[in-house]
Amino acid sequence: MGVFAVTGSSGGIGRAICERISKAGHRVIGVDVRDAEVVADLSTPAGRSEAIAAVEAACDGVLDGLVACAGLGGTVRPASLVARVNYFGAVAVLDGLKPCLARGESPAAVAISSNSATAVPPGDDGLVERFLDGDEDGAAALADESDGELVYARSKLALARAVRRRVAEWGRNGIRLNAVAPGPVLTPLTEAALQHPVSGPLIKAFPVPLDRWGEPSEIAEAVWFLLGPQGSWIHGVVLFVDGGTDALLRGDVY
Ligand code: NAD
Repeated sequence: MGVFAVTGSSGGIGRAICERISKAGHRVIGVDVRDAEVVADLSTPAGRSEAIAAVEAACDGVLDGLVACAGLGGTVRPASLVARVNYFGAVAVLDGLKPCLARGESPAAVAISSNSATAVPPGDDGLVERFLDGDEDGAAALADESDGELVYARSKLALARAVRRRVAEWGRNGIRLNAVAPGPVLTPLTEAALQHPVSGPLIKAFPVPLDRWGEPSEIAEAVWFLLGPQGSWIHGVVLFVDGGTDALLRGDVY
């Protein structure tokens, strides 16, 4: 039996990921601001340190897998909170628990990005750079002057890039690291966004070639594929699990 940690474990997708890992016979340490084995607030440096220390203690310093899933939607205000949780919270947990993963059995980690990272047009707003430079105060200040959905998309683009930038170092440590970029899935996050007067209609109009939204379990299956032995030579990918939207919008990137 392996030991895995999952942030955002009380949410729609995080809970499904926990269930999938448990179904494979492994122990899961859930991390969330509510209803979790480790209750911690990933929006602050102090909360992230508490989360990392508590997971380290719960797993006796040895983790076989980790999923950074905790996140906030683009309608949450202030937008700086979205920036803090979605990017800085995720990266802090990944980097902070890397030593535990390095002691694990065939260790792997997955960050939950989003296909909005590429669906929202690129721009020179400087947010992605602030994220990747680790400039949390600068990113937070800029986020509060920006559109919330843009902040969400940029946080998820930066997270995908952060994953890809770590392949050499994490590979040397024998830890695989990948991202999953889901399309729309009905969860408390999207239920709240659907009520928003501007974001709601935009989300409903989002084109999905398979003509339906995804289920949390469909995201969880992809995450498990990347974490488990099936994914043993997959490292540094951003796997779109979105019913075909990314291919529709960016068909010829390859
Ligand atoms: P959700 O709201 O159901 O779950 C998110 C979880 O994160 C919640 O349990 C919440 O308590 C936790 N969380 C929020 N802030 C936190 C904090 N400061 N510290 C610790 N935990 C915190 O949302 P979901 O749809 O299951 O989203 C899970 C992940 O998937 C998010 O990163 C989201 O951006 C991403 N995602 C979701 C969709 C979608 O359509 N639902 C699409 C693409 C990506």
